[in-house]
Amino acid sequence: MRIDIVTIFPTFFDVLGLSLIGKARESGVLDIRAHDLRDFTHDRHRTVDDTPYGGGAGMVMKPEPWGEALDSLVGDETVLIVTSPAGEPFTQTIARELANESHLVFACGRYEGIDQRVVDHYAERGRVRLLSIGDYVLNGGEVAAMAIVEAVGRLVPGVVGNPASLVEESHEDGLLEYPSYTKPSEWRGLTVPPVLLSGNHGLIASWRHDQQVERTRRVRPDLLPD
Ligand code: SAM
Repeated sequence: MRIDIVTIFPTFFDVLGLSLIGKARESGVLDIRAHDLRDFTHDRHRTVDDTPYGGGAGMVMKPEPWGEALDSLVGDETVLIVTSPAGEPFTQTIARELANESHLVFACGRYEGIDQRVVDHYAERGRVRLLSIGDYVLNGGEVAAMAIVEAVGRLVPGVVGNPASLVEESHEDGLLEYPSYTKPSEWRGLTVPPVLLSGNHGLIASWRHDQQVERTRRVRPDLLPD
C-alpha cells in the first residue's frame, strides 16, 4: 500500500519509522511518504494560510498550495482522506475498508482548517473521506493522520506477524476485548482468574465472552444492540 501525507510538518511522521509500521516500510509492504505543503507555494514566505472570508478568528489554509500538492499525488485509485473534527467518526470498520485500498493520500489541516473548495473539488474528481478521530479538537491533522495510518496499516497483510492477533480485538466483533493476563499468576496480591489456568478451552472462551459483554455494557453501552 502506498500512503502519501501532505502537511506543513513532515518531520512529525519520522516516528512511522519505528515498530511494526517501520518494519513494514523496510520490507516494502507499506510505502509511506510525507510531503511539505510549503514546497507547493511560490512566495518568499511560503504562505499557506490567509484570513477567512466573512471574518472571524484564526486563519484558513489557502486552496492553491493544496491544489498543487494534491494534483501531484491523487490518481484514479486514490482515496483522499481529509482529517477534520467535522468529519465522519473514524472506526475499525472504516480502517478495514481503507486497508483494502492501494493508495491513500492524507491532507493534514492546521489553523481553522482547509478552504472548503479543496474538499469539494477532489470530491468531484474522485473519492474523498472527511475523517474525525474523536469529538475533540487537535491543533492539526498530523496526530489524526498518524492514528489512522497506524490503525489501517496494521490491517494490511504482512504488517502484523500473526494475523490471528487481529481477530480477537476490541471493535472487531462489536464488543470490547476481554482483560488479558500473563505470568506470574500472582502479582502484588492480585491473582489471575482461575478459569484461565484451568486448561479448559471451552470454559475459557465462554468466560472471555462474558467479560467482553460485561465490559462493553459498563464502558460502552452505546456499542450494544438495543
Ligand atoms: N475550526 C475547525 C473546526 O472547528 O472544525 C478545527 C480546526 S483544528 C484547530 C485544525 C486541524 O486539526 C483540522 O483542520 C484537522 O485537520 C485537525 N483536527 C483537529 N481535530 C481533529 C479531529 N478530532 N479529528 C481529525 N482531525 C482533527
